Amino acid sequence: MQIYNTLSKRKENFVPIEEGKVRMYVCGPTVYNLIHIGNARPMIVFDTVRRYMEYKGYDVNYVSNFTDVDDKIIKAALEEGVDTSVISERYIEECKKDMASLNVKPATTHPKATEEIPGMLEMIQNLIDKDFAYVAEDGTVYFRTRRFKEYGKLSHKNLDDLQGGMRNLLVSGEDQKEDPLDFVLWKPKKEGEPYWESPWCDGRPGWHIECSVMSKKYLGDEIDIHAGGEDLVFPHHENEIAQSEAANGKTFSHYWMHNAFLNIDNKKMSKSLGNFFTVRDILEKYDAQVLRFFFLSAHYRSQLNFSADLMEAAKNSLDRILTCAERARDAIKVAPETAMSAEEEAMVKEAEAFRSKYEEAMEDDFNTADAISAIFELVKFMNTNITESSSKAFDEALYKELFELSDICGLILEKKEETLDEEIEKLIEERQAARKEKNFARADEIRALLLDKGIVLEDTREGVKWKRA
Ligand code: AMP
Ligand code: ZN
Repeated sequence: MQIYNTLSKRKENFVPIEEGKVRMYVCGPTVYNLIHIGNARPMIVFDTVRRYMEYKGYDVNYVSNFTDVDDKIIKAALEEGVDTSVISERYIEECKKDMASLNVKPATTHPKATEEIPGMLEMIQNLIDKDFAYVAEDGTVYFRTRRFKEYGKLSHKNLDDLQGGMRNLLVSGEDQKEDPLDFVLWKPKKEGEPYWESPWCDGRPGWHIECSVMSKKYLGDEIDIHAGGEDLVFPHHENEIAQSEAANGKTFSHYWMHNAFLNIDNKKMSKSLGNFFTVRDILEKYDAQVLRFFFLSAHYRSQLNFSADLMEAAKNSLDRILTCAERARDAIKVAPETAMSAEEEAMVKEAEAFRSKYEEAMEDDFNTADAISAIFELVKFMNTNITESSSKAFDEALYKELFELSDICGLILEKKEETLDEEIEKLIEERQAARKEKNFARADEIRALLLDKGIVLEDTREGVKWKRA
């Protein structure tokens, strides 16, 4: 299996630290709002990496954090006049709902920064003891970047170039730094902000330290894969490497994987630019699988421009797979229960080529676009060869292929039942109640109201049924 490693800027053979096991850490979202579909890209991409690894028999320990203390969360809490934990807990729950809709498996562990403060204090103290960190007069603890000789190795930046750029970027309060390149590990509290006690000052952690600490605690000093969006390469992941390797004296992560951006009009989709759609916005219009399919249709290292046309194309393509699956299921129900003919057996063997193609694509740095092409070849094969006379065993064998290959991509072979929105459901219930009370005038009124909304009701012996007009 080949993985493109940001560290070496090339594809490398994947060799796990421990045979049969993968230790993987994916930087998760900062929870102050509903996630947007750009945030969903790493979730879907790395969930697919995980699913493929599991399919290959690896035992994957998958850790993904929630950043639940940060300036934006604090700001949102102040605006609502609530505790920061109210904001973060709310959006962690909402994020988990979105992940479930997108069929992203829950991580083995989803640590939260605020629950890992003791580990952070310990690592910061360790860095101070080793002279990799120092305490400024106001109690801020900084990482001494230049002392970590390999700084810049992930982002392929040169320290002196960085220094030039950074000198102008110093913000107020940072003048106690020894060097503009140094970054914050711990900072003093400000009025009205959450804080924790520490040997240096009451305060809170800088952003980068949480991932170094959570990765160490749940996966160990040395891990196989560390992943996230490409905006995290610098400074976040560069700083994580500096902290972890300085503290633990070991290579932090062997492979670094980064997904490219989801753009809109060729600009990164982001909350700060305001050019975003939340996952919820998209779910109003599409089945969540369409979004999953949309992302996997492209290679994870290619920039992707979001557009309504591309979503429609994704919907139609996915539909072809789902229709094929539905047809196969129908065929299985009525197929003759005879043994597979020799010809059918040969065809099942022939169909194995699609799986090989699929695997080859996935093993080439998770080329899901090509893997999906292999699924389409299988779909075409099934559409041609599953007939009224094909045996049940044959139909089932091909269906199983389609099921398994789709499942690795997290695609479910069921069309989602169309659901009614809550308001309409309430009206239907109210009409039922009116009929029970023999208030036929109201029942008819509601029927007319629903018709205006394009919903036709039919009273049948099995109860009330609806369809779109
Ligand atoms: P954040 O909440 O901004 O820290 O982002 C959570 C994850 O989403 C990180 O891995 C980011 O790199 C990733 N991310 C944010 N915006 C985008 C985008 N437009 N396209 C792809 N990934 C993104
Ligand atoms: Zn991180």
